Amino acid sequence: MSPDGLPFCFQDCGEIQMEIRIPEEVRRIIGILEEHGHEAYAVGGCVRDSLLYRVPEDWDITTSAMPAQVKALFRRTVDTGIAHGTVTVMMGKKGFEVTTYRVDGDYEDSRHPKQVTYTKSLPEDLKRRDFTINAMAYNPGTGLVDPLGGEEDLRKKVIRCVGSARERFTEDALRILRAIRFSAQLGFSVEPRTREAAHELVSTLARISRERIQAEITKLLVSDNPQYFRELYEAGITAQIFPEFDVMMETGQNTPYHCYTVGEHTLAMLGVVGASPVLRWTALLHDCGKPWSCQTDASGRQHFKGHEKESAGRARRILKELKFDNDTVDQVTKLIAWHTARFEGGKYEIRKCLNQIGVQMFPLLLEVDAADAMAKNPVFQDESLRRCARARALYQEILADGDCFRLDRLAVSGGDLREAGMKPGPLMGAVLNRMLDEVMKDPSRNTKEYLLANLLRYAGAEETGRED
Ligand code: ATP
Ligand code: MG
Repeated sequence: MSPDGLPFCFQDCGEIQMEIRIPEEVRRIIGILEEHGHEAYAVGGCVRDSLLYRVPEDWDITTSAMPAQVKALFRRTVDTGIAHGTVTVMMGKKGFEVTTYRVDGDYEDSRHPKQVTYTKSLPEDLKRRDFTINAMAYNPGTGLVDPLGGEEDLRKKVIRCVGSARERFTEDALRILRAIRFSAQLGFSVEPRTREAAHELVSTLARISRERIQAEITKLLVSDNPQYFRELYEAGITAQIFPEFDVMMETGQNTPYHCYTVGEHTLAMLGVVGASPVLRWTALLHDCGKPWSCQTDASGRQHFKGHEKESAGRARRILKELKFDNDTVDQVTKLIAWHTARFEGGKYEIRKCLNQIGVQMFPLLLEVDAADAMAKNPVFQDESLRRCARARALYQEILADGDCFRLDRLAVSGGDLREAGMKPGPLMGAVLNRMLDEVMKDPSRNTKEYLLANLLRYAGAEETGRED
């Protein structure tokens, strides 16, 4: 790094040969294609990320060779996107996408080009790409190929469409989300004309599959700048896919605990919770039911009793609409449903929570709780964080002591109850649950002797509906 914090290659000090470190496999693929008279370059995200000293996720190669020629040159290839000119070349266990230079034809549905036409010109191929910073190519012989000013935009930290932003977004509406997602990942701004066109065309996002929308928003959320989610609100995108958020931004919270609207609190929390998809989606949705759970008392103070249930229900629907897998939906909604638990009942309440959400989820719940506290009125933060630390310590003791909080760890099974003369059926299930509840209150009672000796009491309480 230079003294002004810029990588040396960005300093204005004349000709600097930018040395992009290309993985050996990519070097070999480019080398083999060139030996056979073709052009080949690393292209797109990997060049952008290398110039920014970020580690590229994948390395894509663009080439003048036709797909059939690529396939003939490499022993192991997979036709992953042959209709669009992409062949995946396998090197060891890794795959590298090699795509023939192409010019995209007209787009039929804001997403798919009707047909692709191959070209022999690298600049033509670069022109079909979405943003200038994604339209650079590099190989060791030629160095950087950057006819559209991508490097300059990297230096200016802007996301700018290649050519006319309106045309680019009309061709493919997903690019609107990609622009905002890249700005969050890189901490860049969206160049004004690109931003204006994006805002103008947001309604065309309706044509984009929910899976793709979900993938882009998840990338934005797990980035270093999740609070850029605000941009989706400002662009009118949340109104389409998560209208609750717009209401959250307009819902004030007149309680001593909060100093923001529900929406601003949510954005603040995104910035402090861990960067996993489950945690970030939980933070985003944890209060989404609040505007519908608000009651104002005589003094004008607002209460949001039961908002965790309302939020969990709405979150489930939103996540399902965005085609999330069941596992993620379950994890996020469980965390939301439990996010207001304060564990004042100590270990008993924690054991009950462990029974409901599972042992691996509990540390995540504490993380959500702590992040929630950090995004509220600072006056209460210390107290909340101490409460989280206490709950964590109790949780660790529960695990270390091997306390029972699940039916399959209860000292008595259905078989034991049958042997004791009880018929299988709903009563048996209810008795086992009563036993578990008692054991969660006092783990020393998790013995066959104690539980069977008290069998009649449990069964009697169950039949008379009595609370112990
Ligand atoms: P990342 O992999 O980090 O998401 P990336 O820039 O590599 O970022 P990819 O989706 O892997 O993005 O695409 C690789 C390249 O293909 C991009 O850099 C860009 O040049 C081009 N590209 C991808 N999607 C589009 C699109 N929707 N419109 C135009 N060009 C695109
Ligand atoms: Mg990529």
